[in-house]
Amino acid sequence: MNLEAVDKAFVLQTYARNYVNFKKGVNATLFDENEKDYIDFTSGIGVVAVGHGNKQVADAICEQVNNITHISNLYAIEPQAFLGKKLNELSGMDVGTFFANSGAEANEGAIKLARKYGETKFDNKRYKVITLAHSFHGRTITTVKATGQKKMHSPNFSPYPDGFSYDHYLKDIYTSIDDETVAVMIELVQGEGGVQPLDKEEVQKLAAFLKEKDILLIIDEVQTGVYRTGEFLATNLYEIQPDIITLAKGLGGGVPIGAVMTKHKDILTVGDHGSTFGGNYLSCAAANEVITILEDYKVSGALDEAIIYFESKLRALYEKYPQHFFREVGLGLMRGLRVTDEETLSAIINNAFQEGVLALKAGKNTLRLLPPLTITKEEMDEGFRRLDNAISKI
Ligand SMILES: *Cc1c(COP(=O)(O)O)cnc(C)c1O
Repeated sequence: MNLEAVDKAFVLQTYARNYVNFKKGVNATLFDENEKDYIDFTSGIGVVAVGHGNKQVADAICEQVNNITHISNLYAIEPQAFLGKKLNELSGMDVGTFFANSGAEANEGAIKLARKYGETKFDNKRYKVITLAHSFHGRTITTVKATGQKKMHSPNFSPYPDGFSYDHYLKDIYTSIDDETVAVMIELVQGEGGVQPLDKEEVQKLAAFLKEKDILLIIDEVQTGVYRTGEFLATNLYEIQPDIITLAKGLGGGVPIGAVMTKHKDILTVGDHGSTFGGNYLSCAAANEVITILEDYKVSGALDEAIIYFESKLRALYEKYPQHFFREVGLGLMRGLRVTDEETLSAIINNAFQEGVLALKAGKNTLRLLPPLTITKEEMDEGFRRLDNAISKI
């Protein structure tokens, strides 16, 4: 049986998969079983921030798992404590962290924290959470309900938890708030929704308003966090101080990890929340190494250089094909081009794959590019050359 047959027989088919068999990765370059190479402009959907086959991360993981992989949260975990300290320092806020295994699990934790805040801090129960249309917050029953996309709320999975509503624009939130609203949860750059950054001034204005009303601001940085937008957090770029920030994708360099960071360190107490695997030795050792690498990379100026180079390459492509693209969107190394129609976008992504470059779709019509942050200029040159070839064949 070949890979496709085994996969189709034994793995639930919840993804429309591509049956390439990747065997090796070196930074932003992947090799399949026939040794054909692909430039990876997806980094596993914003996960492999320090590239494939990163030796430093691999060594840190090996050293850790040769000693202890997992011990449970019933005991203190040194790399977890250090990671918490590091997140506190890099965020620029005095936060404590709960560690989970994924973005959805981190957002679940954030919502639980907000709900308890709403239950215990006020005379009346506050439990409602407002999110934005086209948002994406995860695939569990609660986070799917928090996701502001109708198509995600299939009756197949109902009933969903109460207390979620969606606004199209930040300015609508002011009038949607009522005395039962406990939190507003947003992505600063909507990832799945179309790589759409929010307006900085509008976000700052909303943050100040929510603070005054004692309504929590939750920033879902599952995709934007860990230097994806050029700063450690998009929150830093927007110069706000949210109540809760969630992280996941880029944090572990491919090892599953999620994080709920909050200034409200004493809301969740013993027994309120937990996770068997969350923050274990393996994932925290990986995350500590990823952060060490990326912190140096940022401080040296190399990250900003990579962003500028990627930006210029993308702009050239955008300008070359005005018949296909009508807008550039995104920040840092989270970028998109709006494509005239869905069919053209599918054709671009399919052709790109044939040419040996991996790209993503976001929303209905956005070509989304999320390369490893450590992508080299040579890899960018080659990736954009292939992408150009792919588009020229439309
Ligand atoms: C990917 C993503 C999630 C879900 O993360 P999982 O690890 O797949 O559960 C949540 N929020 C945002 C903004 C994301 O991009």
